Amino acid sequence: MAPLADSEWSGILNRVKQTFPNLARHWFDDLQVPDLQHGVLHVRCANLPQQRYLGEHCARPFSEAAQQETGRLISVRFSVPDALRLPGSQSQDPPSFVSEAGSLPLNPEYTFDEFITGPCNRLAHAACVAVSAAPGQTYNPMFIHGSVGLGKTHLMHAICHHIKAQRQAPLKILYLSCETFTNHFIEAVERGALHQFRFRYRHVDILLIDDIQFLAARERSQEEFFHTFNTLYQTGKQIVLSADCSPRSIPSLEDRLVSRFNWGLVARIDRPCLETRIAILRKKARLRQVAFPEEVILLIASHFDSNTRELEGAITTVDAYSQQLGQPIDLAGARTALGLEPAPGTRQVTIPRILEVIAQHFGLKKSDLLGKRRTKSIALPRQICMHLSRELTGHSLEEIGSHFGGRDHTTVLHATRQVSKLKEHDEALSATLEHLKITIRNGHGERGG
Ligand code: ADP
Ligand code: MG
Repeated sequence: MAPLADSEWSGILNRVKQTFPNLARHWFDDLQVPDLQHGVLHVRCANLPQQRYLGEHCARPFSEAAQQETGRLISVRFSVPDALRLPGSQSQDPPSFVSEAGSLPLNPEYTFDEFITGPCNRLAHAACVAVSAAPGQTYNPMFIHGSVGLGKTHLMHAICHHIKAQRQAPLKILYLSCETFTNHFIEAVERGALHQFRFRYRHVDILLIDDIQFLAARERSQEEFFHTFNTLYQTGKQIVLSADCSPRSIPSLEDRLVSRFNWGLVARIDRPCLETRIAILRKKARLRQVAFPEEVILLIASHFDSNTRELEGAITTVDAYSQQLGQPIDLAGARTALGLEPAPGTRQVTIPRILEVIAQHFGLKKSDLLGKRRTKSIALPRQICMHLSRELTGHSLEEIGSHFGGRDHTTVLHATRQVSKLKEHDEALSATLEHLKITIRNGHGERGG
C-alpha cells in the first residue's frame, strides 16, 4: 500500500482540527501517516479507545478533509494492530451488550469515571449508577431533567457504558433521541411497517430516550410512546428518559404520560457551583492532555457559570489559541483568547485603581484594605479587591498577594473563590460587583467625580 505524503497527511489533520476543533484530540498528532489504497485511507490507531473514538465521531470529518486535501474521492477506515483486536470479533462490543439497530453511537468519554459530581447533580448521578447496576429493579422509570449542557446525555451514555462493561448476560440496549423515535414512528406509519417498529422498541431490556420533551404537541407519537412505555414497564424493563424540564412542565404532554414519568425517580440537575466547575475543568483539561495552570482554570470557572458545554468551549478556545501561538497556556493568553481583555479605549486597570474605587464605595481607607484587620466590614471589601484584581488585571496570584501587604498566593486564591461563591447566591453582591467593575474601567470616581 502506498503511504500518503507527509504533507498531505498533515494537511488533512489540520483541516480536521480547524473545521472540528471540538473533535480534535492531542494524540491525533501521534497517528502514523496512513496508507491509501483503492480510495480508502487506512488510519492505524495506537489503541482500542482511539479506534472507537475515531470510528464513532471522526469518520466523516476525516474523509471530507482527505477529499478536500487530495481532490480525490476517499473514505477512511480506522484500525488497530492485530494484537489489540478483541478475539473472535470484528466489532469492539463485548458480548454483554447488544446495541440495537438504530441505537445512537455512544461517546467513549461519557462514562461515570469522567463525570464530576457535586451538589447540583449528585442525586441524578447516584440514581443512574443504581439503574446501571440493576436495570429494571431500582428506579423505573428514571427521569433526569435540567437545562442544556448539564450532563443528561453524558449520564445516559454512562449507563450504557457501565452495562456494557459488566459483561453479565447479554442485555439489549436501545439509546436514542426522542426525535429519532418520532421520525422512526412517522416513517413506520408511512411505510405501513408499524409491526416492525413496535417489535424493535418493545423487545429491549433497556430503553433510553434523550430529550423526551420533543414529544410536546406530537399527539400520535405520544400515544405510541405511551404503549411502548406500558409494555416495557409491565415486563420489568428499564426505561430512562431525559428532558430539559420536569414532566409536568413539558408543554401539552398528556396527563397519563406525565403521571407515568413520575412513577419512578425524577432527578433534577442544576447548574454546577464554582467548586464543581473547577473540578470539571480540571477533568476536561486532563482528558485532552493539556496543561492548564490553576489560575486559568479559575478564570474560566468564574467567567462561565451557566453550563458545562460553555466550560468545554472555553477550554477548546484557549487550547487552540496557545497552539496557534506555539506558547504554553497562561493567564494573559487565556484572557485574550476568551475576549476578556478590557475593551479598547477603556482604562488599563491597575490594582491601585481597584483599591481606590473599593475604598470609596465601602467608605474605607486604602490602608484598611491593605492592612491586617479582619473585621467583617473590612475583610469582605478586601476579598473583593483581590477578586477584582484577579479578574481585571493580568497579575498572578503571587503578584496580587504582594500588593496586599505581602500576603500568600493561597490567601488570594481563597479570597477569589470566596467572592465567586458568595456571588452565586447573592444577587445584590453580584450587581454591586458589576457596578464596581464598570466604575473601575471607566476611570470615573464612584459618584461620577
Ligand atoms: P445535556 O445532555 O444535559 O445537554 P451533555 O450531557 O451533552 O448535556 O453535557 C455537555 C458537556 O458537558 C459534555 O461534554 C459532558 O461531558 C460535559 N459535562 C456535563 N456535566 C458534566 C459533569 N458533571 N462532569 C463532567 N462532564 C460534564
Ligand atoms: Mg443532551
